[in-house]
Amino acid sequence: MNNEDFQSIKHLLSKPKKIVIIPHRNPDGDAYGSSLALYLYLLKFNHEATVISPNDCPDFLKWMPSENNIIVFESDTKKATKILKAAEIIFTLDFNSLHRVGERMHKTLKNIDPLYIMIDHHQQPDDYARFTYVDPKVSSSCQMVFQFIEKLDHLKYIDTDIATCLYTGIMTDTGSFRFPSTTSKTHKIVAQLLEVGADNSEIYNKIYNVSTYNRIQLLGKALQNMKVVEKYRTAYITLSQNELNKFKFKKGDTEGFVNYALSLENIIFAAIFIEDKKQGIIKISFRSFGDFSVNEFSRKHFNGGGHINAAGGRSEEPLNLTEKKFLDILPLYQNELQN
Ligand code: 5GP
Ligand code: MN
Repeated sequence: MNNEDFQSIKHLLSKPKKIVIIPHRNPDGDAYGSSLALYLYLLKFNHEATVISPNDCPDFLKWMPSENNIIVFESDTKKATKILKAAEIIFTLDFNSLHRVGERMHKTLKNIDPLYIMIDHHQQPDDYARFTYVDPKVSSSCQMVFQFIEKLDHLKYIDTDIATCLYTGIMTDTGSFRFPSTTSKTHKIVAQLLEVGADNSEIYNKIYNVSTYNRIQLLGKALQNMKVVEKYRTAYITLSQNELNKFKFKKGDTEGFVNYALSLENIIFAAIFIEDKKQGIIKISFRSFGDFSVNEFSRKHFNGGGHINAAGGRSEEPLNLTEKKFLDILPLYQNELQN
């Protein structure tokens, strides 16, 4: 996006508007962080802003500033639909393809015609937005929102709550500043967030030190289920609905499990397959090290996408057949995986 575009957006936002901000379905720290930060920023200019989340977030995000103002489409469909219909501008945050809001909400979006602004950091954005502010090299959508506010010359409006939201997403999407997407610029931005009051230690504790006993037991089960395909430097985990039920699975409980598979010596490709009987799908997360693109892999075989080293996908076949399909595909990537 060029400077002219930012000037157009600045002009567009110079008078109060009816604005909706949408994070992706199954929101994570970056989706909620970027959405809430933008929301709090827009409120400062008297916009009528609303965050509408396709579905609810895991408990470990429930403390975020203004999280309780978010309207959840799935549980408050009527109200959400009314607000969406009235929206003049819709920001979509941390995703780049409208179907990622889920089938029902997508249907509603197809029936309205607002001006879309996409702020995101995933590869290969769809072409639905009037303004598409995307950079796949940037660590997180929260970093993109910071840069967006910077481009509008409004950094002075970033207060403690906005900084807290932005810090949260940058921290979660960079694996606490460990992933290669973490640059000196990321750290400079984080320094500015700390300066206006984001509490790094407290935010970390609220996100990561809130495991329940059941979650840790479920992690134990996941680790026991882990399988290694040495030949293709691949490790993967399966969790059936029965296993999830046994440990009283709650949304968000399996967050980060896939990283244990990737942490094995010599492994460069990891996956976790999680059965969801209610939706009738297997939800999949892929992770990799180096040049092997799980974005391409997931797009091609599992109806998903994401980044080079972190992507999600799904399968409509039963767990055992999904596992078999995965194992059958691996040899096609022999060159990349045996390198
Ligand atoms: P996770 O495995 O943590 O759910 O997702 C990893 C990355 O891939 C995230 O950046 C997420 O936004 C993206 N992602 C997850 N699921 C999907 C999907 O079904 N489609 C696409 N395009 N991206 C996904
Ligand atoms: Mn993100």
